[in-house]
Amino acid sequence: MSEPNADFVPLLALEPLPTSGRVLTQDLERYQFYHLGRLPSCPPIYTYKALAWALRDRLMSDWMNTYTTRDRPGRRRAYYLSLEFLIGRALANHVLNLGLDAESREALHNFGQTLEDIAELEPDAGLGNGGLGRLAACFMDSCATLNLPVMGYGLHYQYGMFHQHIENGYQVEDPDNWLRDGNPWEVERSEFTCRVQFGGHTEHYHDKAGIHRARWADTSDVLAVPFDMPISGYRNRVVNTLRLWKAAATDAFDLDEFNAGSYSEAVAAKNLAEHISMVLYPNDASENGKELRLRQQYFLASASLQDALRQWRVAGNSDLSKFAEHNVFQMNDTHPTIAVAELMRLLLDIMGMQWDEAWAITSQCMAYTNHTLLPEALERWPVELFERLLPRPLEIIYEINARFLREVAVKWPGDMERRRRMSIIEEEPVRQVRMAWLAIVGSFSVNGVAALHSRLLQEGLFRDFVELWPDKFNNKTNGVTPRRWLAHANPGLGKLVSARIGEGWIAELAQLEKLKAAADEPALQAEWRAVKRANKERLAALVKAECGVDFNPDALFDVQVKRIHEYKRQLLNVLHIVHLYNRLNHGELDGWADRCVLIGGKAAPGYAMAKRIIKLVNSVAEVVNSDPDINGRLHVAFLPNYRVSSMEIIAPATDLSEQISTAGKEASGTGNMKFMMNGAVTIGTYDGANIEILEAVGAENFFLFGLRADEVEALRPHYQPQAYVDKDPALRAVIDLLASGHFNLCEPGIFDDIVDALLSPQDPWMVLADFRSYVDAQERVAQAWQDPARWARMSILNTASSGFFSTDRTMQEYNADIWKLKPFAAEGRHASAGTAV
Ligand SMILES: *Cc1c(COP(=O)(O)O)cnc(C)c1O
Repeated sequence: MSEPNADFVPLLALEPLPTSGRVLTQDLERYQFYHLGRLPSCPPIYTYKALAWALRDRLMSDWMNTYTTRDRPGRRRAYYLSLEFLIGRALANHVLNLGLDAESREALHNFGQTLEDIAELEPDAGLGNGGLGRLAACFMDSCATLNLPVMGYGLHYQYGMFHQHIENGYQVEDPDNWLRDGNPWEVERSEFTCRVQFGGHTEHYHDKAGIHRARWADTSDVLAVPFDMPISGYRNRVVNTLRLWKAAATDAFDLDEFNAGSYSEAVAAKNLAEHISMVLYPNDASENGKELRLRQQYFLASASLQDALRQWRVAGNSDLSKFAEHNVFQMNDTHPTIAVAELMRLLLDIMGMQWDEAWAITSQCMAYTNHTLLPEALERWPVELFERLLPRPLEIIYEINARFLREVAVKWPGDMERRRRMSIIEEEPVRQVRMAWLAIVGSFSVNGVAALHSRLLQEGLFRDFVELWPDKFNNKTNGVTPRRWLAHANPGLGKLVSARIGEGWIAELAQLEKLKAAADEPALQAEWRAVKRANKERLAALVKAECGVDFNPDALFDVQVKRIHEYKRQLLNVLHIVHLYNRLNHGELDGWADRCVLIGGKAAPGYAMAKRIIKLVNSVAEVVNSDPDINGRLHVAFLPNYRVSSMEIIAPATDLSEQISTAGKEASGTGNMKFMMNGAVTIGTYDGANIEILEAVGAENFFLFGLRADEVEALRPHYQPQAYVDKDPALRAVIDLLASGHFNLCEPGIFDDIVDALLSPQDPWMVLADFRSYVDAQERVAQAWQDPARWARMSILNTASSGFFSTDRTMQEYNADIWKLKPFAAEGRHASAGTAV
C-alpha cells in the first residue's frame, strides 16, 4: 500500500482556483488547444466551450464544498420537483455571479472574441414551456443566492422546447437538439444511478413476523442516470445543484428473452427505455394525457425520492422516523405528484415500514404548488393506464383514498355527494386518478402563486378541502430573479441604478425604492431615456433581422410575448391593432402615438386555435406594414421562437407591457414582473399578479382596464358579444374588416373560426366584453406617451416599485412558511448571503 502524499488534501478543503484574466487566458489555451485540439482559427463555439469549462472549474470548489457541508446529518433540506426548468443560457449568469466580467473579457480578448459574441453561441437550455418552467429556474437562482439548501430535481430531456419558425405566416416546429455540441456545464454522476420500475404485477404475502407486505414483481426496469448542473449564488460562494435524470436501458437488456438471432430487436428495445427522457411535452396549461408523459412523471418522482433517501442514509442518518423533520419536497404543479404514492411505496415496500408511520412521514414532507385554475390543465390519469404501468403505486393510491374518504365520512356523515366530489378516484365517465386531489391529501402545504389565484382556489376548486383542512392552504406570490432579468439583461439600466443607489439592489431588490425620490429629476429621466433608447435600438435590430420589419426606436414599443393561448387574449391585442389601422385609414390622428407592436410566443403543436392566432398576427402585420398610407405610424411584427434569451433583449426595450388575460384566468404571470423591473408600464386586467403590481406602483402608473374576475363570472351566463358589436361602431368596423377577408385575400375563410369564436356567446374568454375598455385604456397610454417627462416618471416608478417581485422574496416566504430551512453555510469558510467574496 502506498502512502498518500501529505500535500494532497482531499475534499472539504478545496480551494478555489485563481481567477485573474491571465490564468483564465491560460485555461482557454489549455482547453481549446490541448484538450479540444483546436487551432486559433477554429469555430468560436470551441472558445465558448473552453470558457465554460474554465468558469465551471471556478465553480467546482464552491460546488463541492457546498455539497459536502450541507450533507451533514441533522441539516434540513428542500427538494424542488419539477418536470420543467426553463433555464436559458448559463454563461453570462455565472460570470455575473462569480464577478468575473473583466477577467472573462480580458481572456476572450486574447482570443479575438467578445463576451457578448461568445455568450450568443450557447443554446438555451429550454427544458420548459413557459412561466411554470421559468419560475423553477428563477427559484433555483434565488435559493443559491439566499444560501438555502435546496436541490432541484428534473429531467434531462434530449430535446427541449421546440424551435418555432414561421412559414407563410404559420408556425412550424423544429426539434431542439440543444445537446448537439455537448453541455459543458453538466457533470454526469453515474455512480448515483438508480432503477425505476414499470409494468409487472404485485404480490402480497406475510413476512416472518406475520406482517402483510407487498412486492412489485416482473417489472420492466429503466435506469435513471443523474446529470448535475451547478446553480451559482450571487457572489456568495454557494453553488447548489440541479439534478436532471436521463433514462437509460438496463445493462442486461434481456438478450435471452429473444431467440437466437434477435440481437437487433433486443438492442431496439433499449430505445424504448431511453425514450422516457427524449422530449419535453410542449403543452403549456393543458393536460398531455399520453402514456409516455405518465412514465416521465413517475420516472422523475421515483428516481428523485430514491436519491433523496440515499443522500439521507449516506449522511449518516439511520432513524427514518426523523426523515420528515429533515426533508421537504416542493411539487411544481401536479406533474410530479405521483411522488406522494411513490414515497409511501419506498417506505412500505423497501424500508419495511407500517402504513401509519409511512403516512405520517409522507404527509409531513410533501408540499404542492398549484399553477392554474383552467379545468383543462388539471391532470387526471385513467385508472386503466395506472393498472398497466404502475400497479403498485395504484394500490397505494387506493389505500390513501380509502383512508381519506373515511375521514371525510366522519366529518360529513352521509354526505355522499361530497365524498364523490372529493374522492381521489373519479368514477364517471371513466375511472381516473385526480392528481390534484392526491397532491392535496398527501401534502401539508398547498399554495397558489398570486393573491387572487390563491383566493379563487380556496373559494372554488379546493373549497371542500379548505373546509376540511383550513390551515393547509396559503399563497406565495411568484417573482423573477433580478440577477438575470435586470443585472444581466439590462446592464445599461443596472449601471445607472447602481450609480444612484449602489449595488445592493442586486441581492436585495427592495432597495430600488430609493429611486422613487428621484423619479421627477430631469437628469435621471434623461439618462433613463437614453438607456431605454439604446435597448430599443438593440431590439429593433433583432426585429429587423428576424422579421424584416422596421421598428422606429422613437415610437412606443408595445409588447406582448408569452405562450399563445386564448385565455391570454392575443386576439384582443390584434383587435386593437386593426382598430388603429382603421383609424389611420380614416385619418383619425387625434391623440395619436406612433407605435411598434411586437407579439411573440409559441403555440402548442396540437392547439389549432392558437396556431391560427399566430397566422392572424402575421397576416395583419403584413397588411399594416406594407400599406403606404400608414406611413410609419404603426408597425407590427411577430417575433419567431420566443424564448428566455430573446426575453433578455425584449424586456429592457419595452415601453408598454401587455398583460391582458381574461380576469380570473392567469394564475400569476411572471412576464409582467420582468417588464415592470425593466421600466415598462403595464396595460393590464385585474388578474393574477397584475393586481399586486398595480398596488405596488399605484393606479396612476398602471393602465387598468376590463372586467374583474367576479364580473366576468356574473356576466358569463348572459354574455352577448353581438350586443357589443352593435353598440360600438369602432368594434363593428374591426370585426367587419376581419370578416371581409381583408387580411387573407389569398387564403379565403382561414379566419372565419376566429371571428365565430369572438362572436359566440359561449366564448369563455369574453374578448369583446373588454374591447371598449381596452381601447380607452390604450388611448390613455397614447396620451401619457405624448408627455416624455410623465412617461419617464412612470417608468422609473415601475422599476423602483418592483422590489416585491424578486424571487428572493418569494423564496424567503416559502422558507418561512413551508420549508423552514436554515441558510446552510452561514458558519465556517463560506460567506453569508449577499456578501461579496
Ligand atoms: C417569463 C417567461 C414566460 C412567462 O410569461 P407570462 O407572460 O407570465 O406568461 C414564458 N416564456 C418565457 C421564455 C419567459 O421568459
